[in-house]
Amino acid sequence: MRALYPGSFDPLTLGHLDLIERSARLFDAVVVAVLQNPNKTAAFPLEQRLEQIHQATAHLEGVTVGSFGGLTVDYAKTCGAGVILRGLRALSDFEFELQIAHTNKSLAPQVETLFLATAVHHSFLSSSVVKEVARFGGDVRHMVPPGVASDLARLFNRDASASSAGSAHG
Ligand code: ADP
Repeated sequence: MRALYPGSFDPLTLGHLDLIERSARLFDAVVVAVLQNPNKTAAFPLEQRLEQIHQATAHLEGVTVGSFGGLTVDYAKTCGAGVILRGLRALSDFEFELQIAHTNKSLAPQVETLFLATAVHHSFLSSSVVKEVARFGGDVRHMVPPGVASDLARLFNRDASASSAGSAHG
């Protein structure tokens, strides 16, 4: 059975990676797919997020990387996935995730949503927290894969030099 793991992955964290590694042991194939969401402004462009996931999952057999816009259930059908995977970190994730799962079930009854509990030592991690720590110069090497840590350093150094040069962006 093939599973689809959709998300923003802006950027990929070790929590996401842990979930990918565990699901790769459960399924024949796992498609990690970056959602192109027009309602969210991403810190990292799509191509860079795809590259980050490629690099971090290169050691995993059966894991492929993709991207999609539109409905997750449509993409699940396109790639032949019978299961949509989502991670649950805390009760606060639950209400929203359940609503999405029910919506997806009503749209595509043949596609199941499967929730995996986050590894407890990664349950505090989110892409937003990681960006916040990196923005203020904190060490994120225990939170993200090495390639992502480098990308975060570059992103915020460049931002810092842009703002000191008087850029109006940001
Ligand atoms: P989205 O914007 O779709 O929530 P995210 O990239 O934030 O995208 O998350 C993608 C999926 O990964 C979600 O199911 C989320 O619950 C899960 N996830 C987020 N952080 C972690 C973590 N630290 N450990 C495991 N799973 C996580």
